[in-house]
Amino acid sequence: MSPKSDETLLEKIDEIDKYPTKAAAWNYRISYKGVLAMGYFHLAAIYGLYLSITSAKSATILFSLGVTAGAHRLWSHRSYKATLPLQIILMLFQSMCLQYTVINWVRQHRLHHKYSDTDADPHNASRGFFFSHLGWTLVEEHDEVTKRITQIDVSDATSNPVLRFQKEYAYPVIGMMCFVLPTVIPVIFWGETINVAWHVNMLRYALTLHGTFLINSAAHIYGNRPYDTNISPTQNTLVSLAICGEGFHNYHHTFPWDYRAAELGNTLLNLSTMFINLCAWFGWAYDLKTVTDDMIKARARKTGDGTHMTTYMEVNK
Ligand SMILES: [Zn+2]
Ligand SMILES: [Zn+2]
Repeated sequence: MSPKSDETLLEKIDEIDKYPTKAAAWNYRISYKGVLAMGYFHLAAIYGLYLSITSAKSATILFSLGVTAGAHRLWSHRSYKATLPLQIILMLFQSMCLQYTVINWVRQHRLHHKYSDTDADPHNASRGFFFSHLGWTLVEEHDEVTKRITQIDVSDATSNPVLRFQKEYAYPVIGMMCFVLPTVIPVIFWGETINVAWHVNMLRYALTLHGTFLINSAAHIYGNRPYDTNISPTQNTLVSLAICGEGFHNYHHTFPWDYRAAELGNTLLNLSTMFINLCAWFGWAYDLKTVTDDMIKARARKTGDGTHMTTYMEVNK
């Protein structure tokens, strides 16, 4: 498959009249479902934090791989291929994070890349930090999102049997992975009380959610732009630490088909890349797509802000 396949997918979209506005005046309509769900999850997570002071920490960060290595790099961008066992593991891990089904995640994410930071971007960072972080889940989606999301091609995801299974049985699969098992396992295996297990699990959920939200907010606002100054996504090391290496976001929006979502050398902070490399080592991940160093340097020289190592050294030698 050519490295352009990801872009080709996005280009298939029919342009509906003109390009979406950046952040036009808009009457927010509260989504009561969103407010209730987020309100409960956050209050329960705060109580969970209180309870977890005396409890063992869960391996929170590992479950985020279902979103970063799975829904994002594998299924949204098709930046590598995965065998059936790895796909099943990633689908189950993604289910633990309750961020829609993978098919819906892919549709929203492709829309985000196609119309970044405009009114057709579900978490439009042009509306500021709070909206792109959490606010977008508390209001009904913008008309531009409703109108254009139907144009996004996700036929590859909807024809994938693992993803179709998750969508078909979304309530039992996600309910079991996100709520039932993380609560029942500590109760059965190490005698935790249901109250503590439930609320510590809520804390786990809230942490993975905010890790993902930081990519949409902080990594679209704060940081430098070594690869392309024409787009808002940035390089944000703190976000990479928080969410398995997904904070090298200026790189990712410039070269979305690269499975590393960063240049080599950033691998230490990139748990998702380490995980994919490990899977590739024993044959579960293959056809890993990357960008050549020359192509990266050329792009940094052409559109970067001068903070890329190559361009910086050239200017300051
Ligand atoms: Zn992406
Ligand atoms: Zn982004």
